Amino acid sequence: MSDEHSEHRTAGASGHSGHDSRHFETLAIHAGQPADATTGAVVTPIYQVSTYKQDGVGGLRGGYEYSRSANPTRTALEENLAALEGGRRGLAFASGLAAEDCLLRTLLAPGDHVVIPNDAYGGTFRLFAKVVERWGVRWSVADTSDVQAVRDAVRPETRLIWVETPSNPLLGITDIAALADVARQAGVRLVVDNTFASPYLQQPLALGADIVVHSLTKYMGGHSDVVGGALVTSDAELGEQLAYHQNAMGAVAGPFDAWLVMRGVKTLAVRMDRHCANAGRVAEMLSAHPKVTQVYYPGLETHPGHEVAAKQMKAFGGMVSFRVAGGEEAAVRVCDRARLFTLGESLGGVESLIEHPGRMTHASVAGSALEVPADLVRLSVGIEAVDDLLADLTQALG
Ligand SMILES: *Cc1c(COP(=O)(O)O)cnc(C)c1O
Repeated sequence: MSDEHSEHRTAGASGHSGHDSRHFETLAIHAGQPADATTGAVVTPIYQVSTYKQDGVGGLRGGYEYSRSANPTRTALEENLAALEGGRRGLAFASGLAAEDCLLRTLLAPGDHVVIPNDAYGGTFRLFAKVVERWGVRWSVADTSDVQAVRDAVRPETRLIWVETPSNPLLGITDIAALADVARQAGVRLVVDNTFASPYLQQPLALGADIVVHSLTKYMGGHSDVVGGALVTSDAELGEQLAYHQNAMGAVAGPFDAWLVMRGVKTLAVRMDRHCANAGRVAEMLSAHPKVTQVYYPGLETHPGHEVAAKQMKAFGGMVSFRVAGGEEAAVRVCDRARLFTLGESLGGVESLIEHPGRMTHASVAGSALEVPADLVRLSVGIEAVDDLLADLTQALG
């Protein structure tokens, strides 16, 4: 281990990654996580503590004074996240929406405008439509897969362009590099919600995005046992502003949650490889099924975003949506009949999940521009044996 890695980290350096050229799989296991300086423990301990002894007034050990401001377990995760996204600063929050809230309240003021995707995550849409709007922030929706549509949606008051790619639940693909150009020309910031892809498949900062948002609850945690969120940026000054608001607003990730996410992230690469392989097989099978009228998966050559996805992603992810012949009732029946695919919200865990977005995850966007088709079923394809998954879907489709 080099001196750099055995040094005591300081809270002031929280989330700053060095210029670490090691490969993704190596960083996932080691970045931000040197062996414990006191005991040699190879896994970062859970520092379940709120306050820290000071060596004289103001004499902080390693910069730690109070765990809302910084906690060593959270610091380890934040440094890890920064390294995985190729950013300079990572910040970990109590949930994905807490991370988004911190970002919006750091960057926006009354009168500002945000362009959001026309198939945004339901909770993100609700945050804009029901919470942030009451504070005078304006928003409008655009099909972010259409570069010109986004350019047209930008106003003089626009501060942010918000992108999810692949999007939820329709797996739309947005060209991140193209929108980074639009954002730069307009003098606005580009935010990419990288939850569906994870940094293993897609690195928005390298493509020109200013800020990456994560729900760590999904692929990063990967085991459906923790709720968390993150922001990562390569702009050091913006990182400082976000860290200030993280502390001022207080929705931080607790030490045990941070530890669970780190544990999940160590296997992110191998899990994602299997998620992608299984989802590809599921998408192929559904495409050939007589009761399926449409399949949404960016790995299919027929997907309108396939070429852009192939350009900016390492593989196509573990999410597949499809429409069922026979309308809403037929779609609901498929969800009810599935056995190995567990009926439930959320995604990105090792176990396969199935849901009806119209009545479940996306019920809050009914009647809005973000409404999803009533005959739509969404799958989070897990890492079980693919033959068992295919058999379950076949029986559920009847
Ligand atoms: C789940 C999710 C969120 C919100 O994250 P929480 O951890 O549930 O607060 C944001 N964006 C996407 C794409 C998500 O799937």
